[in-house]
Amino acid sequence: MKRFILLASLALFSIVSISLNRAEAKVAPEPADSVFINGNIYTVNEKQPHAEAVAVRDSRIVYVGSNQGVAAYRGPKTITIDLHGATVVPGLTDSHYHLMGVGEREVTLNLEGTTSLEDFLSKVKARVDKTESGKWVTGRGWIETFWSPQAFPTKYDLDKVSPNNPIFLERADGHGAVANSLALKIAGITKDTPNPFGGEILKDKQSGEPVGMLLDGAHELVTKHIPPGTAAEAEQALLLGVKRSIELGWCEIQNAGSVYDDIALFKKVYGEGKIKLRIYNAVYGPGPNADRFLSEGQTIGAFDDRFTMRTIKVVSDGALGSRGAALIEPYSDADTSGFLTVKEADLQPMLERALRLGFQVETHAIGDRANHMVLDAYERAFAAVPPAERKVREPRWRIEHAQILAPADIARFGKLGVIASMQPSHAIGDLFFAPSRLGMKRLAGAYAWQSLLKSGATVIGGSDAPVERGEPMIEFYAAVARKSTKGFTGEGWHPEEAVTREQALKMFTISPAYAAFQEKEKGTIEPGKLADLTILSNDIMKIPEAEILKTRCVMTVIGGEVVYDGRAK
Ligand SMILES: [Zn+2]
Repeated sequence: MKRFILLASLALFSIVSISLNRAEAKVAPEPADSVFINGNIYTVNEKQPHAEAVAVRDSRIVYVGSNQGVAAYRGPKTITIDLHGATVVPGLTDSHYHLMGVGEREVTLNLEGTTSLEDFLSKVKARVDKTESGKWVTGRGWIETFWSPQAFPTKYDLDKVSPNNPIFLERADGHGAVANSLALKIAGITKDTPNPFGGEILKDKQSGEPVGMLLDGAHELVTKHIPPGTAAEAEQALLLGVKRSIELGWCEIQNAGSVYDDIALFKKVYGEGKIKLRIYNAVYGPGPNADRFLSEGQTIGAFDDRFTMRTIKVVSDGALGSRGAALIEPYSDADTSGFLTVKEADLQPMLERALRLGFQVETHAIGDRANHMVLDAYERAFAAVPPAERKVREPRWRIEHAQILAPADIARFGKLGVIASMQPSHAIGDLFFAPSRLGMKRLAGAYAWQSLLKSGATVIGGSDAPVERGEPMIEFYAAVARKSTKGFTGEGWHPEEAVTREQALKMFTISPAYAAFQEKEKGTIEPGKLADLTILSNDIMKIPEAEILKTRCVMTVIGGEVVYDGRAK
């Protein structure tokens, strides 16, 4: 009997195994275009959080799993990329970026990361030495709060290195700039020049002489004399901005505002196959650009899923550093409450039209008054145009920055389905001056990432480059550490608002994909999705916080194609 059972089960076993072999033969996968092996892969897919290999065919992921499992996808033409244990995350997205600004920073003098006034001046001098006498030298990116003493540069500093070239150099945030004596002379700015509307010419308290620093609306007095760039220069700036972005590991940038000249340029360079980076673009409104956009319609997934445009960008107030952010109560260190930069009467009809036609809206709001006003305006539009009358029922509107919130407004994000698009690096740069601007009490609703997440809101991460450096590892570090890059945190800086590494990774992967209606296409590493991968030198999910800042991008993969390979470096 025992023998019979054994024989029968052997027979059964062989039948089963034959049919299994047949089944396997039938589903033997088509060879992949490329396979990535020996990776430390964080997929951001809850069903399969970690893997060691990925196979890619026709720009999409066809397999995620083990080195052994991926072997079946290797055919004679398959390219194998050995990652030697490097860390892989879904292709990173910067949710708030100014691509032309980043590019212009590359073409002109890039002053980001200057460590002192001497360092700043030596970079300016190097550029002046290469520039024909009399020609303008322009640039951007310096931040004096990182220098000691924390003082603005002046025309006297610049005159020492540039007596014969006019100079105009913007602070990183774009709200301040320094010019040398020649530039001031060309602009006709003297001790008698009054401050223009919305701007200030900083002057010496004793002599009344302009010192070279110009704020906000005073920039134009100089910039109108700087010859405009050519179309070729704009294209060069864009290509350099894209190059820098992919070298840092960005696979997509969400461009926070553009005009139709930029859009024509984007389409031209995509058409010529010159750029691979994905751009999710927004168009400025209300006004002529948005009117044209609303009539002409959206662009979705053009140039092999690389270019989408379905969003209108509104700016509702200024910035905190220059006290332009609109606050409910006055600033703690000045007799002003900031200002709104959009009229509700212009905004409301556009919002309702956008909702009917299925357009997304994203609005810059930094101060608590601006955020409250925008939430009210969105809520009114949602009530006026119920889901049945909308082309897209779930509009996924966004507030960009959402930086300082009245406590009662935090829960409204989750409730209204408004996405909070936030910049972790702003919190670790602003911690040096926000307490004096806002006072301790208002810090409770400032950069409140964790409170927003807990209230059910989607929070997405971005850099606002070139306002900040635009480096993914600075943003990731800032989100999890909530401390300056040197590890400093100020009094009342609410460490409990920092996020976990898992939350931070989502802020730059699946959440921005959702915020762009692309969560089925990208944002995680799983079969069927676009093969966008960012490959990093360190395991950012495990290493000590400070080492996150030493992590670099090893490789950037967009649609299965290695668009940046830094392995040799
Ligand atoms: Zn911005």
